[in-house]
Amino acid sequence: MSVRVFRCPDCDHRLRFGADECGACFCPTPALNRGSAVFAGLCGVMLVMAVSLA
Ligand SMILES: [Zn+2]
Repeated sequence: MSVRVFRCPDCDHRLRFGADECGACFCPTPALNRGSAVFAGLCGVMLVMAVSLA
C-alpha cells in the first residue's frame, strides 16, 4: 500500500508519493510530491531551527 496524496494537475490521476511524473500521462508532478523536494524542505526547516537556537 502506498501513500497517494497529490493528484495530477493534467489528468487528475492519483500520484504515487515521491514520483517525478504522472503514472498515467507522464506530465511532471507538483514539486511537493517529489521526495527530494520534501527532503530539501525538511533540511531547510532544521537549518532555520538551528540558526534560531544559536
Ligand atoms: Zn496525469
